[in-house]
Amino acid sequence: MPRTTKRTPSKVSTKPTPRKSRKSDEGVPLSQVIRRRIQAKKARFHANDNIAQFIEPGEIDGLIDEVASKLQGVLESLVIDTESDHNTRGTAYRVAKMYVNEVFTGRYTPQPSLTRFPNVSRLNELMIIGPIAVKSACSHHLCPIMGRVWIGVLPDKQTALIGLSKYARITEWIMCRPQIQEEAVVELANILEEKMKPTGLALVMEADHFCMQWRGVKDLNSKMVNSVMRGSFLKDANLRREFLALMDKQQGKQ
Ligand SMILES: [Zn+2]
Repeated sequence: MPRTTKRTPSKVSTKPTPRKSRKSDEGVPLSQVIRRRIQAKKARFHANDNIAQFIEPGEIDGLIDEVASKLQGVLESLVIDTESDHNTRGTAYRVAKMYVNEVFTGRYTPQPSLTRFPNVSRLNELMIIGPIAVKSACSHHLCPIMGRVWIGVLPDKQTALIGLSKYARITEWIMCRPQIQEEAVVELANILEEKMKPTGLALVMEADHFCMQWRGVKDLNSKMVNSVMRGSFLKDANLRREFLALMDKQQGKQ
């Protein structure tokens, strides 16, 4: 089952259901409590999965505290004197907050709402959106992946259109998770395809992988580019060419 078909409400309209097992949760780390809820539903919780529906209101702060205490242990194991070194005194908490609220926030927050509009003008011309800035992290090293993505949409009269800013919102939501680039573009394509039902969809992502630059081969110039083509983009070479040409043009404009 593609994970993108899972619906997470964009607005919390229902009252949070009190945890049934609250008593037995006493003393159990919050991450374990959340993990149990996920496992009870037999859901997946890989690094690039969204688990917002298993987190109750008010629990994010508790999760940050738990991550901070574990990161404090990491700093101690790295033999860093976080008591005397004023620069690292608050680092564990800062990094925990950065992980949960910023760079991996796409795991913990519900899908942004996507208002869809019927294609009343029956647009059927290729649209290109981008470049949209991409900030992600590789799930192998948790190193940043910084790049750009272009989205090509070929609508037909059945296609639901979304506002321009929503492409950036949904891209951010998908990208702010630890993952690998190949899976990230597929995830983004899946959700756009599901929401918009375009007759053709094309995505190209180009990114710098800091795990290639900061560590490993330390190659500062290597970029990874990959693409996903769906529907008419698969069948029609002219359409693909048009997309790539327009993409180059937009790139030149920058
Ligand atoms: Zn890596």
